Amino acid sequence: MKRLSVKVKLAVWYVLLMALMAALLLGFLLGISGSVSNQTAMNQLEQEVRTNLTQVSLAEDGSLQLGEGFRFYENGVYTLVYSQGEALLAGQVPVSFSAQEAFENGLTRTADGTGGRYYVLDFWVPSGWDGGVWVRGLLEAPDNPQAIANLLLMAVVTMPLFILLAALGGYLIARRAFRPLEQLTATADAINEAADLSRRVEVPPGSNEFTRLAATLNQMFERLERSFEAETQFTADASHELRTPVSVIKSACEYAEKYGDTPEEQRETIAMIHRQADRMSALIGQLLSITRLDQGTEKARLTKLDLSGLVEGLCADQPYEKGRLLPQVEEGVSVQGDAALLTRLLQNLIDNGFKYGKPGGHVWVELGRKGDEVRLTVRDDGVGIEKEAQEKVWQRFYQTDPSRTGASGAGLGLSMVQKIAQLHGGHMTLESVPGLGSAFTLHLPAGRGDPAEEKI
Ligand code: ADP
Repeated sequence: MKRLSVKVKLAVWYVLLMALMAALLLGFLLGISGSVSNQTAMNQLEQEVRTNLTQVSLAEDGSLQLGEGFRFYENGVYTLVYSQGEALLAGQVPVSFSAQEAFENGLTRTADGTGGRYYVLDFWVPSGWDGGVWVRGLLEAPDNPQAIANLLLMAVVTMPLFILLAALGGYLIARRAFRPLEQLTATADAINEAADLSRRVEVPPGSNEFTRLAATLNQMFERLERSFEAETQFTADASHELRTPVSVIKSACEYAEKYGDTPEEQRETIAMIHRQADRMSALIGQLLSITRLDQGTEKARLTKLDLSGLVEGLCADQPYEKGRLLPQVEEGVSVQGDAALLTRLLQNLIDNGFKYGKPGGHVWVELGRKGDEVRLTVRDDGVGIEKEAQEKVWQRFYQTDPSRTGASGAGLGLSMVQKIAQLHGGHMTLESVPGLGSAFTLHLPAGRGDPAEEKI
């Protein structure tokens, strides 16, 4: 049974169930058909005998008088009249009934004759003080065994036919019902073999389990495709970003080899190499950090954290000109958070605020509670971000036109910021007006439960 397909298993199940039901039905029919036909025969006997009773009377001299409506044989019922001494006065005893059945008033019973069983019903018709006659009805009992044999014969002939039909019908219905699943499997196999994630399985019409399965599979392929694309894009962007400083270093070296004769030129070249190496090192650091956050190899220790203290401390340590960084921090704001990760998040936002700010512009850092949220906003009066770019700034390696902002970077900072916000059960929002400035806000749930260590 294990190696049978589901379709065959279903068909076998139908057949077994059908056979069981047919057997039960047959047994039931046989059971009731016997008792019903017996009851019908007994009713028939009683009705005929009672009708004849009304036609029986005895004259004054004791002689028997039968009315015109008296029937000696009607509907299979023989009616006989016997004297008090049990001598037959009228009617004819059927040949096959030879039983010497004693008379009993008003009781239907069976008696075995030579040729079969009979129902017998007697009535005493009294006359005068002590006289009277017996009226006896006889009806041959229906031949039940024959009826049963016929029924059995019919069942033996028709049942295999029905069972065959049930098996065939069950198998066909199951095959039809499973066809969408086979198509799904075939398409999924094709996608697997061709490694073509852009293909989708066909969603069967209607709304059933297969439709939902197909839709879920398609969603899964969609996500897989997006994540493969993102991975490919990430690798391409990372190599591209690393290639730029490497080629600058290479050409600086070549230049120095050819023309770097004076110590001045050599110093300049080394300074350039140093800058590019710093850039590469920062980039590699960011890439490593993002990968660790993604893979969960870096752990976030969410503990009760004095966010007000953290923000004030970090703002105080910034190397920017005095008066350009303006913190507005509500006292005593604490969250469940990881100090190192939140420091990295805030540092990124502050750096961006200055990087994409106007010369001599300002950056405001605001921390406060708002309803059941803690909000940390970093606002600047810089270049701002165009509407259509606002959604994209969170993507890895996304940079708005670097020529417009005039700043260098790899486009990884904000995606890391968003990741850190998510790891704290929060999210980031951005409001920006091109030419006026931007405001990046971290929303964190306030008053979270016990400190918990989470793997990220
Ligand atoms: P990076 O700064 O290294 O380019 P980010 O992920 O930090 O990368 O930022 C992505 C892009 O979003 C930046 O290239 C910049 O164009 C834009 N951006 C980020 N912060 C600001 C800001 N405060 N004002 C204007 N543009 C910004």
